[in-house]
Parts: sequence; structure tokens; C-alpha cells
Amino acid sequence: MDIQGKTAVVTGGASGLGRATVEHFIQHGANAVVIDLNDTAGAELEAALGGKAAYINCNVTDEADVSKAMAFAFERFGSVDIAVNCAGIATPGKILDREGRHTALAQFQKIIAVNLIGTYNVLSQAAEAMQANDPGADGERGVIINTASVAAFEGQIGQAAYAASKGGVASLALPAARELARSGIRVMTIAPGFIHTPLFDGLPEAAVESLTGQVVFPKRLGKPAEYAKLAGHIVENTYLNGETIRMDAAARMAPK
Ligand code: NAP
Repeated sequence: MDIQGKTAVVTGGASGLGRATVEHFIQHGANAVVIDLNDTAGAELEAALGGKAAYINCNVTDEADVSKAMAFAFERFGSVDIAVNCAGIATPGKILDREGRHTALAQFQKIIAVNLIGTYNVLSQAAEAMQANDPGADGERGVIINTASVAAFEGQIGQAAYAASKGGVASLALPAARELARSGIRVMTIAPGFIHTPLFDGLPEAAVESLTGQVVFPKRLGKPAEYAKLAGHIVENTYLNGETIRMDAAARMAPK
């Protein structure tokens, strides 16, 4: 699908990978609805990108919120053609510590809720909106890109909830692609490695050095623009479907 003239909804679109994706799509002629909880960053991005971006406060775990966001996209730009799920949280927590269970069940549930259930909520509602689109070349009506993580495949100690949520996201692509094929909708997943977003700004220098040490080549953190470029390629390359692409410079995470 050409990006030019399309409308993308991007969750987590006010920060990091989502923000870079919004900027990339707009540079390539699309409109973007920025779905996020960060009102200050959302308003600032909307102002910076002019009439091509529209921010809406929307919790991806909330069915009614996401429904409002889809209606908002139609109202502002007339369609939903592309959906990119970048909203996510990565709170670490061990299963056990010396005293017993460390991670409260509520914390595990919250990570699954935002990362996995939120992704499904947006995927299902975006697909519902996309199936009304006129088909383009190959009968294509929409593209959905979800964001897993290399933690889906080699989660570290302290990442049980995060890795489980991202494993779920990675497993979602194939059955969703198989089912939504009849509507002309593709579903892909990107599994990033270590990408320099605000997520990293809070980490101690030693932690950043240790993570960078696990990268093979090029030996540096990834850039949000590199994620955005891959998302743009997935939109444009109709033959990509039902697959998870690692974008990690060959990094494989150690147990800790
Ligand atoms: P980020 O800069 O923290 O951006 C995530 C955005 O999502 C934030 O603006 C956050 O708002 C928003 N958000 C959180 N919960 C939400 C909810 N319930 N509803 C709507 N928006 C919500 O993170 P990032 O680094 O760009 O990461 C984006 C995605 O990539 C995440 O799913 C992350 O797990 C995944 N990922 C990132 C990396 C990396 O190295 N950066 C690697 C692998 C995977 P608040 O700031 O208000 O919470």
C-alpha cells in the first residue's frame, strides 16, 4: 500500500518509536492520529506537524476509548488504512525474591493488559474500520503492525510479565493475518532490540553499556527512525504478512 494519502492510527504515538513512525508517515504524505496518554507530548507533536497529525487521549486497554479514537480518525481524515501499535510498558519485576512472591498479580495483569490486550483491542477495532475501505491493488484494505520485543524470544530475569506479553503479541500476527486475509488486511509484527527512546533515558549508564555490549553490529543502540523506516517498508511491501521481523543488529539477550 502506498503511504501517500492514507490515514494511520499510531498508539504510543507521542513518544519514542510511535512518534518516529508518525513523523515518517507524515513525511511520506499520510495523515496520522496519535493515540497516547501523554497529553503534553501529544499536543506538542500535533502543533509541530500541523494539520496532518491529530492527537487523542486514549487508553488502549479501554474498549470505548479505542472506539472513540477510530471515530475521531474518520471524522478528521475520513478513513483508517494503517494501524501501528506502539503503546507499551516495560516495568521489570522478578517472580520471587527472598521473602516470596515479588511481582504482585496486579502488576503482571497490568503489563498484559497494556501490551497484549491493548494491542488486540486496537487491532480488532482497526480491522473493523478497515474492512469498509475500497480495496486497492491485490484487494488490500489495510495494514496492521504490532510491536513485540526481542524479549518475546529471550526474556531476561525480571521480564516474565513483559516477555509473556510480547510473546503473545508475536503469536497474534499469524492467526490474525490468516483470519483478516478475507478482508484484505495484513498483520505484521516488529520485534525491536535496544532502541534509543525515552525508555532508555532513565537507565543508569552501566545498564545502557551492558545492553549495547550484547549488540553485534552496528554496535550501538538503534534509532527510532530505523523502526519507523521498517514500519514504512512493511506498509509499502504487500508481500509481507503474518510474520515477526526482529530489528536488533543481531543482539541476543543474556539471562540478566
Ligand atoms: P515510550 O517512549 O515509553 O512510548 C510509549 C508510549 O505509550 C508513551 O507515550 C506512553 O505514555 C504510551 N502509553 C503507555 N500506556 C498506554 C496506554 N495504556 N494507552 C495509550 N498509550 C499508552 O516507549 P518506546 O520505547 O517508544 O516503546 C514503544 C513500544 O516498543 C513498546 O511496546 C515497547 O515495549 C516496545 N519496545 C521498545 C524497545 C526499545 O528499545 N525502546 C525495545 C523493544 C520493544 P506514558 O509516557 O504516559 O506512559
